[in-house]
Amino acid sequence: MNKGKVTILGAGLVGSLLSIYMSKRGYKVSIFERRPDMRKEQIVAGRSINMALSDRGWTALDGIGIGDEIRKISIPMYGRMIHSVKGELTYQQYGKENEAIYSVSRRELNCKLMELAEKQPDVEIYFNERCLDVDLESNEVVLENLKVNQKKKVYGDCIFGTDGAFSAARLKMQMNDRFDYSQTYLKHGYKELTIPANADGSWKMEKNALHIWPRGEYMLIALPNQDGSFTCTLFFPFDGERSFNSIKTEADLVSFFTEIFPDTFELMPTLIHDYFHNPTASLVLIKCEPWNYKDKLMLLGDASHAIVPFYGQGMNSGFEDCTVLNRLFDEHNGNLSTLFPEFSKVRKPDADAIAELALRNFIEMRDLVGDPVFLLRKKIEAKIFQKFPEKWMPLYSMVTFSDIPYSEALAEGIRQDGIMEKIMAIPGIEDKWDSKEIEDMILNNL
Ligand SMILES: Cc1cc2nc3c(=O)[nH]c(=O)nc-3n(C[C@H](O)[C@H](O)[C@H](O)COP(=O)(O)OP(=O)(O)OC[C@H]3O[C@@H](n4cnc5c(N)ncnc54)[C@H](O)[C@@H]3O)c2cc1C
Repeated sequence: MNKGKVTILGAGLVGSLLSIYMSKRGYKVSIFERRPDMRKEQIVAGRSINMALSDRGWTALDGIGIGDEIRKISIPMYGRMIHSVKGELTYQQYGKENEAIYSVSRRELNCKLMELAEKQPDVEIYFNERCLDVDLESNEVVLENLKVNQKKKVYGDCIFGTDGAFSAARLKMQMNDRFDYSQTYLKHGYKELTIPANADGSWKMEKNALHIWPRGEYMLIALPNQDGSFTCTLFFPFDGERSFNSIKTEADLVSFFTEIFPDTFELMPTLIHDYFHNPTASLVLIKCEPWNYKDKLMLLGDASHAIVPFYGQGMNSGFEDCTVLNRLFDEHNGNLSTLFPEFSKVRKPDADAIAELALRNFIEMRDLVGDPVFLLRKKIEAKIFQKFPEKWMPLYSMVTFSDIPYSEALAEGIRQDGIMEKIMAIPGIEDKWDSKEIEDMILNNL
């Protein structure tokens, strides 16, 4: 039964997934995407951005039966491999045995989602169509075809803005009365670098781990690709003594890498080319409220809550938007005039919480993962979690391996911080951390 026409702006990760959900609910869906069809574009060497997919993402994919398609193109990462300046390796398991986050190529994931969307009977994707404006009263979107430079208007019974952090749909909402909006840039940016595969196609480092080189102000991470390579991301300040702006020559770069990330230098034969050719990108945090305009327009994904990437939850939270919206469709019998404001209301605190957690995790990743006190604390928490899983779930597990609302995970994490601060202050904790005395103290504080 056709329930009406839906317009989706942006065929990125969230828009493509959302289209499948809406089609399964009986809507006729038209997606308008600014870029050309990436499935027909040539892959640009050294631009193989990959991302970590975790439980919330899987729940959304499995919710419409496409998780297994994506599992085929993903690599499990069971823990962090921390690289010290001296090249020593420390492995930290992320969760329980077999719990993993999954490395997947953004491009492959997006292509697969578009392919699966187009297999639905009622989904059409139109490429090279840039949204210029949304008429909030008439439900019309003004589009410009970037190939033929022609403008047109299309009507939808409702419109979803999944057009990313610089959403045109949101811009229209910003001109509306009583719409809160904030945009903050980090002083760090990022650049993609590559560790290629060995000649036989194997990986040069442990493949089932997320590699981290934590160095305070600088941080390098690497995620495995299916072709044996790793995509690395250098997080680096834009300005300062050592920064994107200060590294001007090949000699500057070589001197920086051999001092700060010495064990990567040999692994990156194209470092100099990649560094000077790949773009430097900024990191933006976007918050806004409300996410809907009546029953006409709803923002999802980065369009309403772009966060920094340090918890690997931007896409996962956007996918979870689809799960929550789908649940509310049932609860509200598909009545958009009640479910749109409700979605905006229930989801906003969770988006704010993951934004906060992601900022905190930057500090944890770049400063703490190499710190012995932090590592001991993680060891104690892991032990308590293993023995008393119903009483203590570490914050990372709540965020990554559960669907506990982000806002509840943040609150519980703050409570756990309070307990662990007291425990870590106990004299001689490094010798008696595994004792019954410490275990009892933690349990009594819960
Ligand atoms: C360095 C980095 C690493 C990351 N790693 C992870 C990770 O490991 N795990 C994770 O969960 N998240 C990660 N993220 C976050 C993740 O990339 C985003 O949260 C996710 O891409 C959001 O999906 P989206 O569909 O909302 O937006 P996007 O992916 O940005 O898609 C928006 C789409 O809309 C289109 N569009 C834009 N404007 C218009 C317009 N005017 N008209 C029509 N179409 C338009 C765009 O072309 C695009 O296709 C990372 C982000 C960064 C920057």
